[in-house]
Amino acid sequence: MDMNPDDFPTSAYIGGAWVTSKDQFAVTNPATGLDIARVPNLTPADARHAIDEASAALPAWSAKTAKERAALLRRWYELILAESEALAQLMTAEQGKPLAESRGEVAYGASFVEWFAEEGKRAYGRTIPTTASSKRYITIKQPIGVVAAITPWNFPIAMITRKVAPALAAGCTIIVKPAEDTPLCALALAKLAEKAGVPAGVFNVVTTQDARGVGEVLCADGRVRKLTFTGSTEVGKILYRQCADTVKKLTLELGGNAPLIIFDDADLDQAVAGAMASKYRNAGQTCVCANRIIVQAGIYDRFAAALAAAAEKLVVGPGTGAGVNLGPLINAEAVAKVESLMADAVAKGGMVKTGGTKDAAGSLFYKPTVLTGVTADMEIVSQEIFGPVAALIKFETDDEAIALANNTPFGLAAYLFSQNIHRAWKAAEKLEAGMVGVNEGIFSNEVVPFGGVKESGLGREGAAEGLEEYLETKFICLGGM
Ligand code: NAP
Repeated sequence: MDMNPDDFPTSAYIGGAWVTSKDQFAVTNPATGLDIARVPNLTPADARHAIDEASAALPAWSAKTAKERAALLRRWYELILAESEALAQLMTAEQGKPLAESRGEVAYGASFVEWFAEEGKRAYGRTIPTTASSKRYITIKQPIGVVAAITPWNFPIAMITRKVAPALAAGCTIIVKPAEDTPLCALALAKLAEKAGVPAGVFNVVTTQDARGVGEVLCADGRVRKLTFTGSTEVGKILYRQCADTVKKLTLELGGNAPLIIFDDADLDQAVAGAMASKYRNAGQTCVCANRIIVQAGIYDRFAAALAAAAEKLVVGPGTGAGVNLGPLINAEAVAKVESLMADAVAKGGMVKTGGTKDAAGSLFYKPTVLTGVTADMEIVSQEIFGPVAALIKFETDDEAIALANNTPFGLAAYLFSQNIHRAWKAAEKLEAGMVGVNEGIFSNEVVPFGGVKESGLGREGAAEGLEEYLETKFICLGGM
């Protein structure tokens, strides 16, 4: 490691230039409440400038061979790995997650760069058997053009590399508008891409507090041919509408309301370990976190007791603390949302088995919580909790479990635990979700497709599908033979 987290940039990055502004906003450490940096509060006009630069850089970048682009991406990947400890420290400082999780996210984020550097070489077209002896049919894959990416705070590196790496590998240029709470990781990634030799204008980062104004420009400008967004379903719907006038291609990775079903025949230890991993990672602030834990009557009490015992062992504190498993929530609104969902659940008969209050570690810390007696009328069942609360619902039959699980407009991740392969397979087929974990609480990586159905979004990230999102298929008919 040669860099220190303090060495990473605090200017925006447009057209290969580090851009400052008189108007700035503070980035705060959620564990301490202290400001750690100030970054430019750029305007819609700056976003337009970024589109100019990304458009100007497009012809040369898309004309490079996939192998040439891969070499630059590979170099970027190596630089991210070389700086992984400094990046992890920076992430914990601005986002709050425990250092061990930040280190994991840097490796996870880097893996997309490595994967897509190679996958870009495999953007194959097809030859199609002809229907007329005078004609031949071929398809080729071409980059879609300038891309805009709007990203959330909960995975400040991985949600960016999962978009930038396939875009660049495909031959697109990109403008990233990172979350206001976590712009520093995005800028650090841009710095390392610059160092790797990624040409000016290919990867731009626009920091702003005016998400709406900048978002409007990115959606309205016809030169931007694709928008890729990860964030809430509410904002995703606004962007979907805003992109209609220019008919942009869209990838939307939106909110979830993941069910985690535990059947009577589950291995109890495996089910507890899976629920712990899925529920409490990133203090419950992931889109694939188990939001509703649906437990069969025969195992319900044993599971609730074992989960509460495991939750009580979690160490709550600042992400830099030794042995800490659970950091702060991102901001005061996030804490208020958890408190309000808890109050509603308890008022409707929910019982706190453990936790249930803020933690003494600081104003943004919430205790790992297990709530039993959860019923369908509670808000905690229909809303994304985004906090460390496990909500346990009881069921009797398999059909009832599937009906409960699918009773939501969302469909991102789902999990189930059973030792019966036939039962597990049938349930996995019936669950309305883009991803299903069977006897597994964590499944995302660069080689598999990530994404949701229903109101959880459009498109997939990672895997071969993730590259396809940045390509157009052109059909060429060679006639007059
Ligand atoms: P969010 O409020 O929707 O914000 C996401 C991004 O959109 C941020 O950069 C935000 O900027 C920006 N934004 C907000 N309003 C906008 C507008 N009107 N126009 C353009 N951009 C706008 O979501 P979040 O709270 O950061 O993230 C949590 C959500 O993300 C959860 O719902 C979670 O499930 C979802 N998520 C989904 C996935 C997935 O892959 N499906 C992965 C991770 C997270 P500011 O930061 O400046 O507000």
